[in-house]
Amino acid sequence: MATQLNGLETDVQYLKGVGPRRAQLLRKLGIRTIRDLLLYMPRGYEDVSAIVPLASVRRGDRAVVAGQVVNIERLISRSGKQIVLILIGDSTGFLILKWFDFTQVADRFRPGQTIVCAGKVTEFNGRLQMVHPQIIAVDREAPSEPYLPIYSLTQDLRMQELRRIVRTALERYSHLLEETLPLWLRQKYGFPTVDQAVRELHFPPHPDVGERARRRFAYEELLLLQIAFAIQHYRMHRAARAPVIRVTEKIDYRIRRLFPFQLTEGQNRAIEDIVADLQSGRPMNRLVQGDVGSGKTVVATYALLAAIANHYQAALMAPTEVLARQHWGTLERYLAHSRVRRALLIGSRSPSERQEILEGIKAGEIDLVVGTHAIIQEDVLFRRLGVVVIDEQHKFGVRQRALIREKAPGNLEPHYLVMTATPIPRTLTLTVFGDLDVSIIRDLPPGRQPVTTEVVPPEKVDEVYEFVRQKIREGRQAYVICPLVEESDDLEGVAAAEQLQPELALEVFRDVRVGLVHGRMREEEKERTMEAFRAGDLDILVATSVVEVGVDVPNATVMVVLNATRFGLAQLHQLRGRIARGSHPGFCFLVAKPGSQVAAERLKVIASTTDGFRIAEEDLRLRGPGEFFGLRQHGLPELRFANLARDQELIQAARKDAFALVERDPQLRHPDLRQLRDQLLKKFGDRIELASVG
Ligand code: ADP
Ligand code: MG
Repeated sequence: MATQLNGLETDVQYLKGVGPRRAQLLRKLGIRTIRDLLLYMPRGYEDVSAIVPLASVRRGDRAVVAGQVVNIERLISRSGKQIVLILIGDSTGFLILKWFDFTQVADRFRPGQTIVCAGKVTEFNGRLQMVHPQIIAVDREAPSEPYLPIYSLTQDLRMQELRRIVRTALERYSHLLEETLPLWLRQKYGFPTVDQAVRELHFPPHPDVGERARRRFAYEELLLLQIAFAIQHYRMHRAARAPVIRVTEKIDYRIRRLFPFQLTEGQNRAIEDIVADLQSGRPMNRLVQGDVGSGKTVVATYALLAAIANHYQAALMAPTEVLARQHWGTLERYLAHSRVRRALLIGSRSPSERQEILEGIKAGEIDLVVGTHAIIQEDVLFRRLGVVVIDEQHKFGVRQRALIREKAPGNLEPHYLVMTATPIPRTLTLTVFGDLDVSIIRDLPPGRQPVTTEVVPPEKVDEVYEFVRQKIREGRQAYVICPLVEESDDLEGVAAAEQLQPELALEVFRDVRVGLVHGRMREEEKERTMEAFRAGDLDILVATSVVEVGVDVPNATVMVVLNATRFGLAQLHQLRGRIARGSHPGFCFLVAKPGSQVAAERLKVIASTTDGFRIAEEDLRLRGPGEFFGLRQHGLPELRFANLARDQELIQAARKDAFALVERDPQLRHPDLRQLRDQLLKKFGDRIELASVG
């Protein structure tokens, strides 16, 4: 490979001054090659431009100082800790540098040497000191750079060493980095060349210059990602073909009359988008976002029925059997008087039932199939698949689409509609679902009951249970949510569903029926419990966050969340959505110790608003994108430089540029774009279909 020749892919081990031992440490930081090393982003910069005289350091300052080693001393503290004290001095005064349990440091220095170091100044027994200071230079004049990079480190790798290694790599290799961004794009944003940028990233003359370098690299990675999306989007809108599904006035009327209510403004707008897609002859590729209860299922039903009215088949896939059954139940209600031939395809079907359904689908005798996401993995063949609705799937990638395409014969691709009830901040939508068109339903159907949310300290949980008892007496049902399935030694005091259920059933709520559901139960068992709860045979459901997505029991109006700070905001919002579904007002109690500032701030957000999009933005800001999606499959791309909470404008800019580029030159053939194309194939080659474009 050409890249191999230029040396950037060389194992860092072979860089001068690294060797096998340090290479192993670097690997822990994700640095394997010289390229990784060059692109290892500093966390920040240390201002070493202002070395202050020792006499002027003050307790509480962060300071950079320089002094000669006067004395080195090893001690054992009363608690048995090994301590190294190094006294340094300059012409104005003295300072103690102190290390705990790190005696090797004593061997690194000799009296008479000059140390430049940085750290926070503290006071001990009336004397000023720095504990575990950062050594910047030894026995040399102060470094020539005014700012030094601060890297995330791993044990046994010192900041000074990593700086030296990066410096060596910059000297020898930075000129080899490919210039991915064409000149006109660099000029548009005032970005430096890649060579200059990588130097300024590590050793900027000023932090603002370092930030500009970071932005260049962030833009670059975002641009690549957005080009991958743009190509996918282009393919769907220009190259691929899909059945033309016409929605005449008559069809529209026949579908709408199945719903016992007027659609909301937001539902109508989403349907307008969908209808335009369906009639276009190109595959719809759309995400419908809307808060819990905003009526997405109704919108999806519209799309399914439009296909069926045009004599195409339609499929609805949900992430779990519980949800598949629930959708089935909903559709059964809407379709009670219709002639739509339909089947629920789930694991618990007997082999012969299953065989019959599969044959019906293949023969085109079944119009509508509801099932889990497993539908696409199985041996299901459709005769004329027109629309596929995917509920709550955060990642529905090219590979899954290819699978579906295979299920539909001919060269027509079905229309895709993805629904998610997790309101997702725009920047995340653009980075995870960037190839999809988006419709957002912002309003809720009228007449929704409000949910009152209250943060309660653990010692008041009995009062909350008393309230629950009261509501149960009035005929309502309640959820009690625990973070854990099973008690854990590592997480003392965190509620676990398996232990709490008997406790509530046998002690707290002896007079009521308490069920249990969690993610580690078998599917049938889960389903049986959910069914009992839905039917009113259980009053309280002790659960983990498995009830987070989509479960619909309108009579359940009270929710108690234990150890509420252990849940993400978006997750709490989802959970709370479970109790806003009926004709009675909801009550949500978040039980939490008033802990850290951030935790308190988060709970305050959730208690003060029910706007899912606002909550999502806050969640992203407070916890970052990885945590935002939690453990769910999300397809979040790896971004080293871009920050999804802060780089909103950059993301928008990169997206605009990417779509314009692909519009003009879908295969990126222009010589200016060669490097961009190479990088793109390297990074997303398995995910995009560059060849099928244009
Ligand atoms: P989502 O899937 O977005 O959570 P659903 O489609 O399941 O929302 O709708 C939630 C509830 O609201 C359902 O009981 C549904 O019948 C009802 N609903 C949906 N749209 C409307 C509407 N326009 N007017 C009144 N009720 C509606
Ligand atoms: Mg729903």
